[in-house]
Amino acid sequence: MSAELRTISIPTRKVPANLLTARRKRHGSAYVCIVCSLPMPQPKFMCHVIEGGSSALHVEDEDRYRPDGGDMCFLPLGSDCLRLHPELKPYAHKVQPGTIG
Ligand SMILES: [Zn+2]
Repeated sequence: MSAELRTISIPTRKVPANLLTARRKRHGSAYVCIVCSLPMPQPKFMCHVIEGGSSALHVEDEDRYRPDGGDMCFLPLGSDCLRLHPELKPYAHKVQPGTIG
């Protein structure tokens, strides 16, 4: 029997609506930070979001994860939000420059 996968509830951060609007105008909204919803055209970090978007999977448990209906795949995590939520660090995959876009 394998141990339970480590997951963390993804926190949310409210950003001013006018900032959100301005960023969306500039970057579109296809790719947004999982914490603050600001567009992240070139994210430095990604989280493997599971359970329909509510949780992130621990980096070291990636190998043991079996995708189910709640698998949202890899989504951006903004550097600011990571700094504000250091508890997310073990759940953030560093993006190699040039692998996205
Ligand atoms: Zn963010």
